[in-house]
Amino acid sequence: ASDKKELTQVAVPKPSSEPAIFIPVDRTPEIQVARLKLPILAEEQVIMEAVTENPVVVLCGETGSGKTTQVPQFLYEAGYASNGGIIGITEPRRVAAVSMSQRVAKEMNLSSWVVSYQIRYEGNVTSETKIKFMTDGVLLKEIQKDFLLTKYKVILIDEAHERSVYTDILIGLLSRIVPLREKKKTPMRLIIMSATLRVEDFTQNKRLFPVPPPVIKVDARQFPVTIHFNKRTPLDDYTGEAFRKICKIHRMLPSGGILVFLTGQAEVHSLCRRLRKAFPFRPNSKVEEKQESEEEMKTFKKAKQKKKMTLPKIDLSNYSAMPVDEGDEDREAGIDDEEEQLGSDVDLDLGDDDGAKEDEKSEPSLPLYVLPLYSLLAPEKQAKVFRPPPNGTRLCVVATNVAETSLTIPNIKYVVDCGRVKKRLYDKVTGVSSFKVTWTSQASANQRAGRAGRTEPGHCYRLFSSAVFGDFETFSPAEITRRPVDDLVLQMKDLNIEKVINFPFPTPPSIEVLIAAEELLISLGALAAPPKQGRLKELERAKLSCPVTSLGRAMACFPVAPRYAKMLALSKQHSCLPFVITIVAAMTVRELFEEFDRPVISEEQKMKLKGKRARVVQMQRIWAGQGPSLKLGDLMVMLGAVGACEYAGCTPKFCEENGLRYKAMVEIRRLRGQLTTAVNSVCSDVGLFVDPKMKPPTEVQLTYLRQIVMAGLGDRIARRIRPEEMLDDKWKNAYKTPLLDDPVFIHPSSVLFKQLPDFIVYQEIVETSKMYMKGVSAIEPEWIPVLIPQYCHFGKPLQNPSPSFCPETGRVKCQRESTYYRTGWQLPSVET
Ligand code: ADP
Ligand code: MG
Repeated sequence: ASDKKELTQVAVPKPSSEPAIFIPVDRTPEIQVARLKLPILAEEQVIMEAVTENPVVVLCGETGSGKTTQVPQFLYEAGYASNGGIIGITEPRRVAAVSMSQRVAKEMNLSSWVVSYQIRYEGNVTSETKIKFMTDGVLLKEIQKDFLLTKYKVILIDEAHERSVYTDILIGLLSRIVPLREKKKTPMRLIIMSATLRVEDFTQNKRLFPVPPPVIKVDARQFPVTIHFNKRTPLDDYTGEAFRKICKIHRMLPSGGILVFLTGQAEVHSLCRRLRKAFPFRPNSKVEEKQESEEEMKTFKKAKQKKKMTLPKIDLSNYSAMPVDEGDEDREAGIDDEEEQLGSDVDLDLGDDDGAKEDEKSEPSLPLYVLPLYSLLAPEKQAKVFRPPPNGTRLCVVATNVAETSLTIPNIKYVVDCGRVKKRLYDKVTGVSSFKVTWTSQASANQRAGRAGRTEPGHCYRLFSSAVFGDFETFSPAEITRRPVDDLVLQMKDLNIEKVINFPFPTPPSIEVLIAAEELLISLGALAAPPKQGRLKELERAKLSCPVTSLGRAMACFPVAPRYAKMLALSKQHSCLPFVITIVAAMTVRELFEEFDRPVISEEQKMKLKGKRARVVQMQRIWAGQGPSLKLGDLMVMLGAVGACEYAGCTPKFCEENGLRYKAMVEIRRLRGQLTTAVNSVCSDVGLFVDPKMKPPTEVQLTYLRQIVMAGLGDRIARRIRPEEMLDDKWKNAYKTPLLDDPVFIHPSSVLFKQLPDFIVYQEIVETSKMYMKGVSAIEPEWIPVLIPQYCHFGKPLQNPSPSFCPETGRVKCQRESTYYRTGWQLPSVET
């Protein structure tokens, strides 16, 4: 049997081995039976031998083979959690950390005191904890406190194939930590677990592991899956196409569950609704159905909020239709008219639905038991997909890509794949971000197809042609290559990794992105600037090894983006901390207010909504206030909203009445607590405590607040275009920013929308029908050269008034001209 296992032999010096002990686990008979069916059980000995003999092991197994739920149990039984040691498992998704800890606790018959989880805001870890599931970000924070992770005997990096940024960084760090622990004679094991087979980035990367770690492959019992491609590729309405395909499967094909892959919550719920209407199934309890539809409405609203921000060109009444990717039209060219399919199961090929309208209210056939599945769905609801469907129904799970590898649904025979995925994209230069639906990769399309062959041969219906599939990327690129890395660079510098460029990234980010991050951190004062001479290339190389400053170290302690961390670090001096903590928390949580543009069914609802919107706008005006208060703009609204909400006891009722998102308010409260703790640990002399109820800031504090915000967002300043500068009408009421050539505008939801201050600072630009700035505050131009000189060019001292001598500093003070970097905006002259 052992010839099946591909255990690459390596010449790692035999590490000090673990005591051979066995800790018994008391499992129920049902669990025992279920476990024995998992392919990984047959490999327990191979895995455990590899782990005993090698400090690092890579474990590859098909999704559903039992990696996440079983390997921690093997380790526990082998004594890796005895003598005070902890088994740590990292997950890229919060839901996975929570639900897997619960599942493992249940399987092992242990309490959540022992098998626990920790995610950003919450956890149930105790001093008794032996198995700890956590998000990858949580473990990274722990490395900052204790580089050697002394309390862990073994770390499992789960879902490594997802290539989340923190997972990548953790693997890089652990590749150094493991040998250090070996040296200290307190060995720690590292197990990298992955679903797909692209593990070369980990194993063949000499900088990461000079000796390639052994790779253990777990064969899952996988049955053949016949792939059916569409002849044509629907360019936008793939939800409709999915609907028609499911109808056909359900009417024409033998029993077996259906799993559908879409891109987001709103789509999932829209398709669920349509399917339930077409194939009604009345659950026994009406209550359940009501809850479902309420939940649907909630996520629908939420999804709409997000969509509003990012994909506004879509007709909102038809929000499931995504914009057509550029180039799709071209891809369609040259596709022959033959039915395309792989495999030979002609009978089961359903063909394309050439515009054929499936009647939504046709003959009800066998009921379809429709369940949604996406990562933010409440765990109890998620658990439903694991249970068998009610008798006489067919299961149909409509999912986002959580069902691709994180969760395995039993008894799926048919997969319907839209071939798309929703991704957050960043503009490399401007940092403007947007959510876009793009084609997925070949690897993930194949993963999705594989879900159909878990229990018997299956079928995968791809809602795109094989030609389109041929153009997919082979693998989805690692996240680290797709986003800004300023936060990561700061964390690494704080770990004394000065030359970030030498860090053993599994896939390194591009040099431009690293330089951009280093530049931002230098201008925030988190890194010491390099000497200003030398040729450009040398300078750039030098820049990539700038050491962290003490300000940078303080900033690294705050669990927020470096720009916001800078604001926190500055605010100690002016007793503005409680306000800045609140503003930063609100900016991090985003979208405090509900969205009002949702479609409404009745006239009555329309009136109600209109009334509510008017009330919310009025409240926002009240919170923004007048004069110095209004100048703080949208950030003052945030302060006012949080303050008012806390005075009212932060109740769902208050939020509902004032159009605030209750969930956002609760998260802000948590983050305020967390930031307060962080501030106290950085500056022990402050002794801050969270008083949810804040007094409003004084006039002086309001000015400081605007200055602090500006200091953090120094490159996000915009200047109003004066009438005489207007090139044409498109510049009416427009602003100019340093990085964008096009006009940008204050978002209509801003309280400064009509005020149009000359200089403003903004939190972010989102691109919808126009470029809109959100989170806007007014600033004074004379602050710029004084507070953010790093963004300014200074001219020669002015002749008049003549230079004067400053007795306190011994320096010559003189008036100098200054301009704002990159734009050449003339600013008031300053004394330097
Ligand atoms: P892998 O990590 O290799 O993808 P898992 O350990 O997550 O596999 O899953 C192993 C099995 O446990 C799967 O068949 C899955 O359906 C089952 N499973 C996981 N979570 C639950 C749960 N909450 N309830 C019932 N079964 C579950
Ligand atoms: Mg898993």
